[in-house]
Order: sequence, then structure tokens, then C-alpha cells
Amino acid sequence: MKNLNGVNVIAVHAHPDDEAIWTGGMLSDLAMRGANVLVVTCTLGEQGEVIGEPYANLVADKADQLGGFRIRELQKSLKTLGVRGTFLGGAGCWRDSGMAGDPANQHPRAFTNAGDEAVEQLKSIFLTHPPHLIITYGPDGGYGHPDHIKAHEITHRAVEQRNLVTPILWAVTDRRRFDEGVAVITAPTTAGWRMPQPNEIACVTSSDIEVRLSDAALAAKVQAMKAHATQLWIADGSINDTNPVAAFAPIIDPEKAPFVFALSNLITQPLLRFEHYQIGTVVNVSTRNTIEALVAGELEAGRSSNGAGDTTDGEAGADDHRGGAGS
Ligand SMILES: [Zn+2]
Repeated sequence: MKNLNGVNVIAVHAHPDDEAIWTGGMLSDLAMRGANVLVVTCTLGEQGEVIGEPYANLVADKADQLGGFRIRELQKSLKTLGVRGTFLGGAGCWRDSGMAGDPANQHPRAFTNAGDEAVEQLKSIFLTHPPHLIITYGPDGGYGHPDHIKAHEITHRAVEQRNLVTPILWAVTDRRRFDEGVAVITAPTTAGWRMPQPNEIACVTSSDIEVRLSDAALAAKVQAMKAHATQLWIADGSINDTNPVAAFAPIIDPEKAPFVFALSNLITQPLLRFEHYQIGTVVNVSTRNTIEALVAGELEAGRSSNGAGDTTDGEAGADDHRGGAGS
């Protein structure tokens, strides 16, 4: 286990729940090994749908109270992961934009329209919490959501404008592991749930880093995902105040799909033991080794071939940003 005391990690996420779904295992593990992890959440997720009847009327076109409610869910998730959190520009500064084409895109505070102000807000966070590693999404936002794409854009702009050489990781979903996971789920027995169509869930065909989560990191990720009960339904038979209906989905091979979950679209998805990341900046071999040292420890950092990490024309001084990593 590597001691990451003194290492600052910043994860920039679009909505409450993304920190858990996309990066919960890695963030939890980094925090357990001593890293100072800060999750920057850009919106309150106001446009989300709600799973479960008790809080169904909080949605944007009814009470429009979901954003405030999701702050509580996020706080619970962050506590479970052992990380700190902040909202970009303060809670309520930017509003969830909904999917592409949604009228919510036109809201005056819609994050999708954010420009220099959001970049400046993130640059200030980089100043007070100088990052050794930054995690966000790739240029497509992981699955095309305008707020995820904006999170990617402002992250890269803020890094450039601050002249940081901090490596950036993009959280992705790996096609092979996802399909393996789906294959070991027998039909869910909960009304309304369905299996995904081939290629329905956005995935990548290769990634730079595959992280196999330790039991502790996986457990923390599952609990953090459960904290977002209006957004996530874990098919393990459990119920809660937000969603008093249990879901079940038998699994043939728990290594390939330790848990099963659905978003409000009720498409059955495997909750994988793995997280996958692309290296989102040009890095030299030394910086790549630094990244792998950060994500290693009790986690296994494997990798497949792809892209930026193979280049050797990296930036001078990258190692200076290593901080206390790897000691
Ligand atoms: Zn999101």
C-alpha cells in the first residue's frame, strides 16, 4: 500500500452521483491511502428524474426541489468515500442542463452555457487545492450529456490557463468488461427493468488504465451509489426511505458483476469491480509511471494499448508535481 499523504486529487463532475458511478472506487481508494481528494460538483442535478414514489414530486417540472435534496445525497456519498466536496461557484451557481435538446438547456444558469466564469471558478479551486491528479470525463462527456462535456471543457481550459502539467484522467466505461458483466446477469425480476440493447450504453473499446477495485473500495463505491437513492436503484434486495421497493437481479459470476443497478431509465447495468480511465493529457513515460503509482497501491493498475500515454514528448517538470506520491 502506498502512502499518498500530501497528494491532492481533484475530480470534476457534472452532477451529484457521477462521483460515485464513474469514479467512486478510485476516489475511495486514493482517500484510504491518504490522498486529499476533493470532488468538484458543477450542478445540483436539478433536471434528474426520481426513482421511488415518496420524493417523486420534487422533479423540475413539479416542485423543482430535487437539486436541494440531492445535496444531501451527495454529502452522504462523499462521506462514504472519505473525500471532501465543493460546488463549482458555490451550491446553486450552475444548473443542470438536462440532455441535449432539452428546454432546460436554455435556463439562464444552465451549466452547458457556462464560459469563462466557470473556468475562473475552477482555476481558483486549483489555486487553493493544487492538484497532483485531476479526474473528469473525455471530450464526449462519457455519454454525450452536455454538462459532462462542459465539465471536460472547463477542466482542460483551467489546466491550460494555469499552465499546470498535472495529469488528467478521463473516466470511461470499458466495452469488454461491461459486456462481460451484462452476460452474467440473469433477467432481473423487478417490474419495469429491462436488459440493455447491444451498444445502448456508451462504452470505449480500449482504455489506458484498468483499476481492479479492492473489496474495501468496491464496498465504499456501492454504499456511495446507494446514497443517491433518487437516481440509482441497486438490485440487492435493499430498500430505503426514498425507494421502498426492492429490486433483484440474480448474478451467475459475482467477479464479473458484483452488483447490479439501474438508473431511472431502468436499464439493467452491471456494477463492475473495475474502473477504467483514459490518460487525457500528453504525458511522457515518467509521468505515466507517476500516474500508475498513484492509482496502484492495493489496486492493480493494468493497461491496454491506446493513445496519449505512449508518446515521449512530454512536458518538462512533470515530476515536480508528484508531491508525496509513491513514498
Ligand atoms: Zn451526470
